[in-house]
Amino acid sequence: MANIPNPRTQYTTEDFPKQYQEAPGVQNQMTPVPDCGEKTYKGSGKLEGRKALVTGGDSGIGRAAAIAYAREGADVAINYLPAEQSDADEVKQLIEAEGRKAVLIPGDLSNEAFNKEMVEKANTELGGLDILALVAGKQQAVKDIADLPTEQLEKTFQVNVYSMYWTVKAALPHLPEGASIVTTSSVEGFDPSPMLLDYAATKFAIIGFTKSLSKQLADKGIRVNSVAPGPIWTALQISGGQPQENIPEFGKGTPETPIGRAGQPAELASVYVFLASIESSYVTGQIYSITGGMTTA
Ligand code: NAD
Ligand code: MG
Repeated sequence: MANIPNPRTQYTTEDFPKQYQEAPGVQNQMTPVPDCGEKTYKGSGKLEGRKALVTGGDSGIGRAAAIAYAREGADVAINYLPAEQSDADEVKQLIEAEGRKAVLIPGDLSNEAFNKEMVEKANTELGGLDILALVAGKQQAVKDIADLPTEQLEKTFQVNVYSMYWTVKAALPHLPEGASIVTTSSVEGFDPSPMLLDYAATKFAIIGFTKSLSKQLADKGIRVNSVAPGPIWTALQISGGQPQENIPEFGKGTPETPIGRAGQPAELASVYVFLASIESSYVTGQIYSITGGMTTA
């Protein structure tokens, strides 16, 4: 009999210790450190010769995608905030360990001019660009709309939504036919939490952007899809994405998932690979949910 892991117990089901870092947080300071597939992801040449830009590539889901892309044969540029340099340095080493080129592009996606600089640098240093994995995101829980500062509202929309327009606009002149764009939405874009009034709205917007852009770019032979994660153990959550009281039972109790635990970034990597690769040649404008069973419809 095959030894198939039980998905309920495949990763930790222990309560997480409460822990807080100022946003964006670094995952190398987390307990436990999220699993981004560093020791487990095995490639099989699905992205040989491809050139990818991954925003939020230092940690969490973006890091899992960046590692997987390199192991599938792609050269990879990652974007992150300067405060995350220590996580980014680890990712650079992991990409280079695969014999692939790694380009580090720190900078703030809420700044329109930076989005263009990032794309130009990725394109120049990689010698082209044919995968955009837009994973960066900002999430700060606020229980009462009366306490939601306009500054947070603006930043959350700039980082999560506007930067997708700015990045794609800058990248399009470089993207060849066959290129793939993968955005990152959320279960929050289907079933929004009361404390994520700004964030959830950005995730609905990303779903609309993804579907609309897929129709606009189909005749160029460029596909656009989205990954919608459920509760995943990452720095986003311990740096204000959740109230501290939700951290111990995150993914188990608050929110509750049918699988009964939080997901790990490694569990999303193969879908970012699938959507970037030509294996998904007939897939565009779609939202792939990876939620531990939470409903997205
Ligand atoms: P993460 O903290 O590891 O990654 C988020 C990244 O966003 C950071 O590493 C940071 O580099 C980047 N970022 C934030 N603000 C930025 C800015 N102003 N400029 C440039 N980069 C900035 O957390 P994660 O959970 O892996 O998040 C990745 C994506 O997944 C986000 O879009 C998030 O909304 C989405 N998501 C996460 C969960 C979850 O439960 N963790 C659930 C659904 C969706
Ligand atoms: Mg990070």
